[in-house]
Amino acid sequence: MIKVAVNGYGTIGKRVASAILAQPDMSLIGVSKTSPNYEAYQAQKMGMSLYVTKESAKEFEEAGIKVKGVLEDMIREADVVVDATPNGVGAQYKQIYSSMGKRALFQGGEKANVADVSFSALCNYDEAVDKKFVRVVSCNTTGLLRTLCTLNKMSKITKVRGTIVRRAADPKEVKKGPINSLIPDPASIPSHHAKDVNTVLKDLDIVTMAVIAPTTLMHVHMLDITVSTSVTREDVLSVMKSTPRILLASSKSKVGSTAEIVEVARDMGRNRNDLYELIIFEDSISVKGNEVFLMYAVHQESIVVPENIDAIRAVSGFSDGRKSMEITNTSMGIRT
Ligand code: NAD
Repeated sequence: MIKVAVNGYGTIGKRVASAILAQPDMSLIGVSKTSPNYEAYQAQKMGMSLYVTKESAKEFEEAGIKVKGVLEDMIREADVVVDATPNGVGAQYKQIYSSMGKRALFQGGEKANVADVSFSALCNYDEAVDKKFVRVVSCNTTGLLRTLCTLNKMSKITKVRGTIVRRAADPKEVKKGPINSLIPDPASIPSHHAKDVNTVLKDLDIVTMAVIAPTTLMHVHMLDITVSTSVTREDVLSVMKSTPRILLASSKSKVGSTAEIVEVARDMGRNRNDLYELIIFEDSISVKGNEVFLMYAVHQESIVVPENIDAIRAVSGFSDGRKSMEITNTSMGIRT
């Protein structure tokens, strides 16, 4: 059993913790919290061991939330630490993980140089095997890489141009906006998403532009991908349909928006309405010679969760990426 600790129990951390509990080859040492809020209360109710920073121990005691120890106790017990602290905080913890001889995963909000390798399971599982520090790329980059590495199997990609409509905030974030505006980021072309794709697909010619939209549900990407041979729409459909963690939403099912996609997740009884799969709008797939056009939606809160689970196995020396993805998909009920 791989013993895993989750440092930072927020949007990503809580989902990774739940996914670890579903794995046949992993055990959850515990999760860390910095304040005794509703998330700490629920984690305790679910039977997870809570560890806290030294400074916050008294606050938890006063709130009547029982803790198992301090953060360092949790790290000591673990083989692998999943760091899901806010952007930039993970890098501050690297020294602690390193001095305690632990392997660690970081999230996409950290700079790429925090880790030995940036990770996307379908693209470069092998590169992360036995590495000490791995960074799971962000939700948008995971969506881009899942798409591009899938299409690369059909015909080598030579150029990508994309537009990213970013959700303004996660559903629980009450202080973020905008609530009635679209905010383009004209000063940043290519947007950081293209640069992040290049941390995995190093030589790819990719330019992305981004706009923030007043929604909390999902991101939407619109891509124009040039491949090296002439392909058909059927070729694209076939490779997408045969790749795990990608689903097609067709207008026949009347699912044509992010709101309806999330409603399907609710109807499926998915934990926290999560959609670990990339959702491609099937009718958007068009081909003109060597160019492929498509649109898809990314559930920002959950798409990186299966990637974290595969990365835990990779850093622990499990070398069969395909098998790891199979175990993850089966245990989490991910459509393949
Ligand atoms: P979050 O704010 O929801 O959760 C972060 C958690 O870390 C909170 O529970 C917070 O209390 C805790 N924390 C804060 N300081 C801490 C400290 N010093 N020590 C221990 N815990 C601490 O953030 P999130 O959205 O889960 O993001 C975490 C990481 O995942 C970031 O790198 C982010 O870029 C990345 N990410 C986020 C999303 C998303 O859509 N939310 C998607 C993909 C990747």
